[in-house]
Amino acid sequence: MSRPTDPTGADDPALRPKNLDEYVGQKQVVENLRVYLRAAKARGDALDHVLLAGPPGLGKTSLAHIIAEELGVDIRPTSGPVVERGGDLAAILNGLGEREVLFIDEIHRLNRAVEEVLYSAVEDFRIDIMLGQGPGAQSVSMPLSRFTLVGATTRAGLLTRPLRDRFQIHFNLQFYEVDELAEIIRRSADRMNLSITAEACRSLAGRSRGTPRVANRLLRRTRDFAEVEGDGTVDVSIVDLALGRLGIDAEGLDAMDRRVLETIAHKFAGGPVGIDNLSTAIGEERDVIEDVYEPFLIQKGFLQRTRQGRIITLRGRAHLGLADPAQADAHPTQKSLF
Ligand code: ADP
Repeated sequence: MSRPTDPTGADDPALRPKNLDEYVGQKQVVENLRVYLRAAKARGDALDHVLLAGPPGLGKTSLAHIIAEELGVDIRPTSGPVVERGGDLAAILNGLGEREVLFIDEIHRLNRAVEEVLYSAVEDFRIDIMLGQGPGAQSVSMPLSRFTLVGATTRAGLLTRPLRDRFQIHFNLQFYEVDELAEIIRRSADRMNLSITAEACRSLAGRSRGTPRVANRLLRRTRDFAEVEGDGTVDVSIVDLALGRLGIDAEGLDAMDRRVLETIAHKFAGGPVGIDNLSTAIGEERDVIEDVYEPFLIQKGFLQRTRQGRIITLRGRAHLGLADPAQADAHPTQKSLF
């Protein structure tokens, strides 16, 4: 199924910001990063290790590439599930040059054996390798270049403590404001040679789940409608038409977002419901619900995570056009008073 923030949904490299000036929003992150980069460059040293956390599509991979770009060094990208053995990681580490960037996406999915190799690498810039097998095996300590590890995760809470503690710089990326997304959409439209009105930029921005990847994806779909059903210019009526056809509502919720809310409201009497029950009822993986759907629904104030499970809020009910259950209960009592 196509997910709203599908990381495999082939981002257009032409739309990716190339340096910090092109990176819209996340002001505090960008300001602090500028300082750390300048200081590391002035010392001629590698940048301290950086952990980037936040929901998919908010710009973690872009930022990792920008860090390397701003440092003027190469980046070696990989991802947690891809590095299966300690030896795989050792080979990657061994190939890194001075001050280069190793980017590990989905770093919370590294297995423990690989994580162990990473510890001494990031702390002491050395790795211990076993030569031979059995009683004659020897451990050899191999020096590495001073490099920067940039780790990205959608779930900082799943990182082991020892791994998290080895990052000296932690950035939590936040959902983007409508103005910032409108700016991203305007720039993307420029790069796509697409004519779009200012109101259309804002309208799309407000329905993009606070996420640049979604904004760019909706812009591309909207362009198709502008070319086929309009005169090529994206205006508000084309945005309404395109998003209506895509099943995206005025608040930017898609069919799956609404299904999450509706399931809690109707099948679980508004909650609380445990994530595993919810996942079974909806037929979507638990990780996807937790990484992709929930953060946005929580940010919108439509859903709450409590110790007992997920509940739909009054705002969430109102968005679905459902009555406040307290009011509904109060009604007969009020009637009986008269
Ligand atoms: P993540 O790694 O967090 O999933 P990406 O860095 O791959 O997100 O971002 C997805 C796409 O969204 C990028 O290719 C880029 O087009 C756009 N994007 C992300 N962050 C920004 C930003 N701050 N400014 C402009 N475009 C952005």
